[in-house]
Amino acid sequence: MAAISDDKIAEVRAASDLVEVVSDYVRLKKQGGRFVGLCPFHNERSPSFSVDPKNNLYHCFGCKAGGDVFTFVIEKEGVGFLDAIRLLAERAGIALPEEEAPSPEATEKESMLAALRFAARFYFEQLGTDGGKRAREYLAGRGFTRESVKTFGIGYAPDGWDGLLAAATRAGHKPEILERAGLVRARQGGGGYYDVFRDRVLFPILSPVGKVLGFGGRTLPGARPMPDGAEPAKYINTSETPVYHKAEVLYGLKQAKTAIRAAEEAVLVEGYADVVALHEAGVQNVVAASGTALTVQQVRLLRSYARTVVLLYDADNAGQMAAARGIHTALDGGLGVYLLTLPTGSDPDSFVRQFGAEAFVNLIKGERQDFVGFLTDAARRAGRLDTPEGKAAAAGEIVDAVSRVKDPVAQDAYLLRAAAALGVPDATLRPLLRDRLRDRRHAPAAPPEARSSTGDDERPNTPPPTVVVMRPEEGDLLRLMLQHGAPMVEHVLGRMAIDEFSEGPVRTLVEALLAQFEAGRVDPAAFTGGQAGEAVQRLAVAVMSEQHALSERGAAKRGKEIERQDAQPFAVATSAMKFLKLDRVEEVIAELRHRIGAAEGAGQDITALTRELIDLNELRRQIDQNAFLEWNAS
Ligand SMILES: [Zn+2]
Repeated sequence: MAAISDDKIAEVRAASDLVEVVSDYVRLKKQGGRFVGLCPFHNERSPSFSVDPKNNLYHCFGCKAGGDVFTFVIEKEGVGFLDAIRLLAERAGIALPEEEAPSPEATEKESMLAALRFAARFYFEQLGTDGGKRAREYLAGRGFTRESVKTFGIGYAPDGWDGLLAAATRAGHKPEILERAGLVRARQGGGGYYDVFRDRVLFPILSPVGKVLGFGGRTLPGARPMPDGAEPAKYINTSETPVYHKAEVLYGLKQAKTAIRAAEEAVLVEGYADVVALHEAGVQNVVAASGTALTVQQVRLLRSYARTVVLLYDADNAGQMAAARGIHTALDGGLGVYLLTLPTGSDPDSFVRQFGAEAFVNLIKGERQDFVGFLTDAARRAGRLDTPEGKAAAAGEIVDAVSRVKDPVAQDAYLLRAAAALGVPDATLRPLLRDRLRDRRHAPAAPPEARSSTGDDERPNTPPPTVVVMRPEEGDLLRLMLQHGAPMVEHVLGRMAIDEFSEGPVRTLVEALLAQFEAGRVDPAAFTGGQAGEAVQRLAVAVMSEQHALSERGAAKRGKEIERQDAQPFAVATSAMKFLKLDRVEEVIAELRHRIGAAEGAGQDITALTRELIDLNELRRQIDQNAFLEWNAS
């Protein structure tokens, strides 16, 4: 890497206000001479993270994280010192000497990030060449100005099989690293590599501070058909890699975060082009989920900036279904949620081009619905409010959503809205809400403390029993990851979504393992030593010690099983993942069957539900055939 002079480093430090940089990740509140907020390094409910603007230092009283603006970026982004300087320099608009190939000491992850950065620059430059003419015309045709092309770093992947590969290897990037970063693919039979993105407009996917994590590539009009005559996929995205986890990333957040923080609200759209088009039109608090339904991690990310999110969806069935799922995810994550269904046949991009930005802003302001209104309308359109049974079922679903609202005052307000929307007295709905809240407190994943509402308080000094609900497969996966470290974490978490793990300490431990992996150092001792909190410590110790306890006692069957695990850890992990995934799909299928039964009983149209069931059965079949092992390579 090109050396960066001490003067430059001092300049970057001076230009990087710690409060501003931290605010990219944490909603800070001023308190006296300090700023406080929820710690971004550990999970907490009340703020113990504090920033001292005078000395430009931060400290967490919970997990003891602390340091200056460089440490913060290094820790938070999992990068090395030079990359932290680079990111902060870019943030502050300070030019640094062009970097060369990654140094031999760079970790694999640093090398991947360097390769991705190289690729982004390469694609951006290609857009200006003769070969990029069609891409430029396409972008101009969509009304994208030079300015927004630059803001979003949009580029062009040249036609041909090795444009990037050749340029990157010439610049010293190793093909294996390019492959790991999702930029090239190995040819069948081991004859070298070829570019993943060819003849496409490329949208770089960035972290909030501008680290290049991956790309979304769109075909150009008139793209050549595939060798087998099929149309090429309109969009292809970087698959999951050690640096890109799509469930945790929001496209456009880097460009949108200031506007989101100012509005305390984010607008979530579906496509990359929608984000760019809206940004261009002046609606800048806009992000997109990259090819996923809104995830728990994305909600957590948004909560650092916003109090509410507006979900924009197509009027079609799939769009409405995705919206309904997004409501639960947002509410569970403590984010207020509003919905806006676009007129049939239009997306944000085309709407803004046809009617202008002001009309769009008015649409967002004037036509948004709260989730109660949205769910009631959906039920009404489906004819569910026409029968008493259908109405009861719909009321149950709406109250279920209301029960997820965290703030009691807001929850009560939504209950009154639901009563009005359904035309029933609120006294009718209150028992339903009480039941939901009770069910939720008694849900398997809830902390054990919450379960003692049976009045059994005679021994107030005894700590509650430490029951962590988890499936046996989860115990196996946790143990394997703790025992085998980084390669196993990658094997498992490259193929499992965080929210496939049970809520509570299990998920917290998984998230912490992932964070360690991303920071380049998996250290089980941190968990058994209690650095990730007591609940996680108990869990880590429990799954690790099960093995010893069993082998010492010689428990026959389970002991054998664990011997097998030691011999073939990766195969055992694969089978545990499979069963866990099957369990999760089965859960959803059971719930869906229940809903179909109820809908049929109420004489409603079950076409959409049945289609969903067919899809889920197909998914189950694929998991059963271990297709998930390939999903990250698609
Ligand atoms: Zn902390």
